[in-house]
Amino acid sequence: MTDAVPQAVVAALDDPFAQLTGPLADTRKLHFEVVSTALLTPHMQRLQLTAAELEGFSYRPGQDVMVLVAADDRKPVRRRYTIRQLDPAARVLTIDVVLHGDGPGERWVRSAQPGDRIEGIGPRGKVFPDPAADWHLFMGDESALPAMQAMTEALPGDADATLVLEVPDEADEQDVLAAARTRVSWLHRLGRSAGDASALAAEAAEVELPPGDGHAYLLGEARVVLAMREVLARRGLTEEQMSPKAYWGLGRANAGHGEPARDN
Ligand SMILES: Cc1cc2nc3c(=O)[nH]c(=O)nc-3n(C[C@H](O)[C@H](O)[C@H](O)COP(=O)(O)OP(=O)(O)OC[C@H]3O[C@@H](n4cnc5c(N)ncnc54)[C@H](O)[C@@H]3O)c2cc1C
Repeated sequence: MTDAVPQAVVAALDDPFAQLTGPLADTRKLHFEVVSTALLTPHMQRLQLTAAELEGFSYRPGQDVMVLVAADDRKPVRRRYTIRQLDPAARVLTIDVVLHGDGPGERWVRSAQPGDRIEGIGPRGKVFPDPAADWHLFMGDESALPAMQAMTEALPGDADATLVLEVPDEADEQDVLAAARTRVSWLHRLGRSAGDASALAAEAAEVELPPGDGHAYLLGEARVVLAMREVLARRGLTEEQMSPKAYWGLGRANAGHGEPARDN
């Protein structure tokens, strides 16, 4: 029963999210306890979390929770993970987390045991499936796999979805079980480093863009997201047709609020 951040440290934090107001007005604090943790694929750990505050909790597929993984002196260190599933009756929320190497989020995930506690805030996030889109294109790396699965599963049966996913290896692939007509292309990194834009940018240049007004969801490493966005813009997709979202930045830890750090 270990706290990710001891209560006495939490109480002394200089926390910009102490009050859930402004953009966080629709979120709630979630006092999570780990129910289970298991390796899902070689580079993905699945954690199931419960909290009394999940009673009546709702979210849109693609949204995430922000968890307080550590404290840096008096500064909170939070990380964001997509809500992969929610079982409202059991009050269990599932997150799938990439094992990429090291970082405060990853250290907490690797050490977490049933009964451990961590504070969360959610739901967060503004990228959802566009109900008006004629087709949906999801592109990104394995950090976006939970979001792409959650969003694809939420599409109606007559929707068309194409997923292009870069993962380290074939063993990191997962099933995508959705009612929608779904095509999935897996790109294997096979030793190339994560955050290398070449394969996803090349795929953005080649992937079929069906007729009609479709929507592209571009998620993952910041510069890879930018590269895909530029390629698709050159192919005629408008800003309104694209939802780019940087999840992490190569070679730089995310900022304390869980987003990729920006240059000052
Ligand atoms: C809205 C949102 C939703 C997200 N959903 C998920 C999710 O469902 N599952 C998930 O695993 N991640 C998700 N992420 C990404 C995750 O929050 C980041 O990867 C985060 O940086 C991990 O924190 P960390 O403390 O482990 O590493 P950090 O301290 O942030 O980084 C340490 C080092 O690791 C590198 N690094 C960080 N992430 C990765 C990665 N994925 N692959 C390779 N190298 C990396 C950094 O470049 C840095 O050098 C999401 C991010 C956002 C903004």
